[in-house]
Amino acid sequence: MYWSHYSAKIYWDIERNIPVLRRTEKSIRIKCTPPSDVRPALGYDILFIRNLIRNYFKDPVDSDRFLPLDSRVILLNKIPYPDLAHEIIMDGHIIGHQFYDFSLRKWRFKPLYAGISKILDYRIGFYAVTSLTKLRRNFVVHRGDIVESSLPERKGEFVALTTKDDLYNALGVLIKKNRIRVLKSWRARKFPRPRRSGSMYEVIKANREFVLDDVEESTRFLKSISKKYVVDKRIILSFSGGKDSMATLLISKHAINDFYVLFNDTGIELPETLEYVAQVAREYNLRLVLASAYDKFFESLRVFGPPARDYRWCCKVIKLAPIAKVIKEKFGNSTVLSIVGQRRYESLARARSPRVWRNRWIPNVIVTSPILDWTALEVWIYLLMNKVRVNSLYLKGFDRLGCWLCPASELAELELVERNHPEMWNTWSEYLRKWSEERKLPKEWMNYGLWRWLSIPGDVRRLLDRKVLEGLERDDRGRGLVVSIEGRTPEILARVEVSKPIDTKALVEHLKPLGSVRIEGESIKVENEFGRVTFYKAPNLSIAVEYYHSYEDGIKLLENVLKALLRSLNCVLCEFCSIFCPNSAIKIHDNGISVNENLCTHCLKCLESCPVVEYLTILISGTRSP
Ligand code: SF4
Ligand code: SF4
Repeated sequence: MYWSHYSAKIYWDIERNIPVLRRTEKSIRIKCTPPSDVRPALGYDILFIRNLIRNYFKDPVDSDRFLPLDSRVILLNKIPYPDLAHEIIMDGHIIGHQFYDFSLRKWRFKPLYAGISKILDYRIGFYAVTSLTKLRRNFVVHRGDIVESSLPERKGEFVALTTKDDLYNALGVLIKKNRIRVLKSWRARKFPRPRRSGSMYEVIKANREFVLDDVEESTRFLKSISKKYVVDKRIILSFSGGKDSMATLLISKHAINDFYVLFNDTGIELPETLEYVAQVAREYNLRLVLASAYDKFFESLRVFGPPARDYRWCCKVIKLAPIAKVIKEKFGNSTVLSIVGQRRYESLARARSPRVWRNRWIPNVIVTSPILDWTALEVWIYLLMNKVRVNSLYLKGFDRLGCWLCPASELAELELVERNHPEMWNTWSEYLRKWSEERKLPKEWMNYGLWRWLSIPGDVRRLLDRKVLEGLERDDRGRGLVVSIEGRTPEILARVEVSKPIDTKALVEHLKPLGSVRIEGESIKVENEFGRVTFYKAPNLSIAVEYYHSYEDGIKLLENVLKALLRSLNCVLCEFCSIFCPNSAIKIHDNGISVNENLCTHCLKCLESCPVVEYLTILISGTRSP
């Protein structure tokens, strides 16, 4: 399924000049990039857009003609770009993009469609009327092609273009004096320019009924789900401090009014969020249950290094583990209904989600989202019409809340963190600097926030030169063990490169889930129905696997003992294994884990769920059959 198959339907009432959630005779569907999860531009956003447009036009009079100084409603639609970018929708149409220029590290405005048409009609800003009949992409417009123009001085500025008959409009970029490269062109059309400005107040009034219908539907749904699954009031609502969880909280209060509210402090929350959660708990008299990862994020960096979008060890260590621990302590293995504020239009994975599902990691938890089909615009209208106080981060330009150094953040979002909390950001930045210097990584790793990926995506790669890409190869995150198999028959002999000293006691504990373990002199032996493994620690680490049935069984056994070794060397005490052990056989101590052999049934769930095993790789060479 692609986004184009699943896009929110938002309309624009031309007469009242406001967005509406339900189609009316006087409305048109807003055509914007899927998933079209538009949100209203509020105070901070409006000022921000106005400044950006002023910087683009240079002349404040032109800028105010383009974006009138009134209460006009503006919507923002997040779109895919190398960094953060939105379509700006005004008067029902896209007037341009606001985007964070990855290479220049600054926000820019790019006029498009209705915006280009306005520039050309009003003859404001930068434009060129050409003598051409077509404007194809990549075509370079020369001085001789231009009939009338007002061009910028600086290269790289955007210019509105039109053909002589005004049949085609285009967006161009100045590449040299009097030379403009066409970036995008389309058939020109007239965009209605409503005189009425509309206002957020009118948006709330016009959409009130629609939102109340949805609130009623969500309330009914929650009531029926809680009747179906809940015994002994075991309901928790996950509260993050964001707008979606706030809307979900209000709906849940209508529907059931007797539930716990769970907040997980990942240890990397912004202070505004912590204050807001405490405030909401007081104001709404909530039964707040706190989970906490304490300092686990920073402690785990020594093992994993900085997290990345394709290396999210942190989600397991500072989110899933503390939440699962609290749920287990509070409810044991009984069925629990968890209410979340997840919405379909947030991501492709969520678009596919049913409205009720079982938690993948905690099977006794049934999860449901009453606002799954809501759009961001609807959530905002609901909160505004109830005059709900929102997290103050929204008033400072934040759109996505959560961990402040999340690698899923765009550079523009991280800059916002830096601006609002320089002392927190400097600590992180200093850590990244040291980490990159130790590995002699190119300066772009820091400057362009390339630490946010292990494998750099194509659209960002295109912006980097070959030398930088080569330098990034020295990023060794996620490398666990390097193993070479030197003998295959009658037993497998593997040599292992380890960069840390092996703690025999810890290794023995981690090997116990695999079978019976004993120490014989300098070596450690593990045995189960598939074979016998011997660890020789001196002079270098080598592992011998005597397989009882097949070579493949021997390799599988070797892989498992290597995982156990990896865990013993890198355990970050996240408690995941002890939480998920079905027999409560694992205890966590200050310096490691211990396994009770009498309780362990060798199911290996601890091995499979451990983040060390999931995120650190074991490279084995020479596994081919003898
Ligand atoms: S061994 Fe257990 S406590 Fe240690 S990192 Fe793995 S799951 Fe966490
Ligand atoms: S998860 Fe399974 S293998 Fe691991 S300690 Fe518990 S019972 Fe043993």
